[in-house]
Amino acid sequence: MTARTTIDSESGSRGTDDANPGALPGAFTLSPSRAADFMTCPLLYRFRTIDRLPEPPSPEATRGTIVHAVLERLFELPAEQRTPEHAATMIRPEWDRLLEAEPAVGELFSDDADGSAMATWLRSAEDLVLRYFTLENPQVLEPAERELYVETTLDSGLRLRGYVDRLDRAAATGELRVVDYKTGRAPREGFEQRAMFQMRFYALVLWRLYGQVPRLLQLIYLGSSEILRYEPDEADLRATERKLAALWQAIRRATDNRDWRPSPSRLCDWCNHQALCPAYGGTPPPLPEATADTAADEAPSPRTSPVDA
Ligand code: SF4
Repeated sequence: MTARTTIDSESGSRGTDDANPGALPGAFTLSPSRAADFMTCPLLYRFRTIDRLPEPPSPEATRGTIVHAVLERLFELPAEQRTPEHAATMIRPEWDRLLEAEPAVGELFSDDADGSAMATWLRSAEDLVLRYFTLENPQVLEPAERELYVETTLDSGLRLRGYVDRLDRAAATGELRVVDYKTGRAPREGFEQRAMFQMRFYALVLWRLYGQVPRLLQLIYLGSSEILRYEPDEADLRATERKLAALWQAIRRATDNRDWRPSPSRLCDWCNHQALCPAYGGTPPPLPEATADTAADEAPSPRTSPVDA
């Protein structure tokens, strides 16, 4: 896929995520995706982070990867070429690129003899990309960063890391806007704050890295053509830091006690591990050796769930 820029508070360096992103022995690491897993269901967190159970590619998550890649590469073009027509032509090459990098995604269409299912799926990706142009005009934007790997370590020793889809910096004031694309629909009224948690997580990391609270957090929901915006302040981000510290304590407790409770919800419909889940009559596999170390050394993960997409 596309190259990713890296900024971390340990080295202050920039590179690609092909390099070791500033490993810090003994630190505990949390990403927004895995934090969301634990908040959704502790057992799901265990399956993904400790057991590291493989998950088959899903059409939604894979489409999310393609759409994100197109929106990232779009800004490599001169401004006048950032048109809906040009963006639509970028979808198929991104799919070919992904297929070459991750041949397993080809399983999605292994039964699609006449290619009609893949054509429909590619058209749905195109719909999402075209909808982006109804929400923003990329010809007047020059992002400071795209697919930015960020990482910082809090005083508690908890290391936070993740990928920011886009970071804009205002030319006149230097103010930061954090942008994340979602291919799903915007959350129902009353659930916006939960959706904004990921953005506060990034805002906290960027505050620690740059010493500057981002001015605006912006979630772009291509599935429903909506934008969710939030202006954080220092008090917000301190509260986020406390919440993450408490979350990490809960994860450590679950690890120490070998106690990962299932928490059934409507998200179970997207869970690949129902057959192993006691809530559905299953039995989890034995925990791997060195569970604590495994839990503490989570690798950055690709977009694998509706939360990420
Ligand atoms: S099926 Fe539901 S309760 Fe069970 S692990 Fe998955 S998300 Fe958790």
